[in-house]
Amino acid sequence: MNYWNPYLETLPREAYDQIELSYFRRMFSFAKEHSALYRDKLKGMEGKEIRSLDDLKKIPLTEKEEMRKYQEVEPFPYGGLLGSDIEKVTTFRQTSGTTGKPIYVPETYESWQWRIEAWCHILYMAGFRPRHRVFLPFGYNVYVAFWEAHFASEKVGCELVPGGALDTKGRIHKILEIRANGMMNTPTYGLHIAEEAKSMGIDPASLGIERMLCAGEPMPSATRKRLEELYQCHVFDHIGGTEPCAWAGMCEAKDGMHIIEPFFLVEILDRETLKKEVDEGETGVAVVTPLGRRSFPLIRFNTKDLVIKGKDSCSCGRTSRKIKEVVGRTDDLRKVRGVLFSPKTVEEVLRKEFQEVEEFEIVVERRGLMDVITLRAEPNPGITVSSIEQTKARLRESLKIATNLSFNVIMEPPGSLPRYTLKAKRFKDLREDIP
Ligand SMILES: [Zn+2]
Repeated sequence: MNYWNPYLETLPREAYDQIELSYFRRMFSFAKEHSALYRDKLKGMEGKEIRSLDDLKKIPLTEKEEMRKYQEVEPFPYGGLLGSDIEKVTTFRQTSGTTGKPIYVPETYESWQWRIEAWCHILYMAGFRPRHRVFLPFGYNVYVAFWEAHFASEKVGCELVPGGALDTKGRIHKILEIRANGMMNTPTYGLHIAEEAKSMGIDPASLGIERMLCAGEPMPSATRKRLEELYQCHVFDHIGGTEPCAWAGMCEAKDGMHIIEPFFLVEILDRETLKKEVDEGETGVAVVTPLGRRSFPLIRFNTKDLVIKGKDSCSCGRTSRKIKEVVGRTDDLRKVRGVLFSPKTVEEVLRKEFQEVEEFEIVVERRGLMDVITLRAEPNPGITVSSIEQTKARLRESLKIATNLSFNVIMEPPGSLPRYTLKAKRFKDLREDIP
């Protein structure tokens, strides 16, 4: 069987629209009645006024900042974000807090089961099946993604191996010892495991991983292909977050990601106005409404994920809407010397054309009145002095073509740049007044 839920994954477009509109109305009324945030935010509006998907646009977006404010009130620690009785909450989760104070996320047993079911779609779509022994190379802590991966794997019927409390070498030994053939990780950590394996004299392809599901960072297709080459396996991507849940995943056609409909109502809006839906092939901001999670109701959450809208049809036969690509976070888009710049473009160039570059970092700073953008690149240990100069020249040229910016390129000694075991922080903007 190709689908986790053959009925829901092949509905006609009109049926998705109808179901999602009706779920949305229900969630709207529920949120208004049960969460203090929405009692205030949706004042004067009624669920029955939403008659079409266009009417949605009249409802204000939910921003992370206001959620932080509403979290400060009682009941502790969820405050006005809570949608259920606090005694029904069965698990505490939180966001990583990289952009400010963390958001605390309550899950009831019911909402957690809804979340896991949505995640099963992602896992099954990426070809994970009961024959897979899946290694999860992280300590889960309070971060939701790993727990989702864990429970969805169980539900799909895979055999899940929790890989926390080990260092990277220990994890590599464990993969070999128990013959894991599946893995879920951030792209950064997938590359790091491969590098570490090589340093131990182990070819990453010999680890036996057949399927890898990535998340946590925007993954350029060149990075996905590099992981496929290193491990000689199939690599899939998906997108989500602690607040909106995981809402889209890649199928075996590996041509963009399917939105998990009708679990989520996803709008892709023009990034300047945040009002109009963009057309196929255009870039917009993803605004997500999880349609069945009541413990933590969210209406039109601004994910700040920039995505390219994809075409609706797919060779896999699924009929849900697709996104073509994740461009990055609106927080990461910067103006450098008046040019709009996304760090993902640099990663795409490096992973595609510069196999000799192992690790990198991008630094933007202001010298006098001038913005200076520097790439610090770390080559493979085996590189010769003469090829270092050639690589520098090629880097300057390729980056200029890809970004329209002149980069200052510095080659760093092997092993000198930081390595990341979760999400990478390879972009540093040191300007005081970031445009
Ligand atoms: Zn597909």
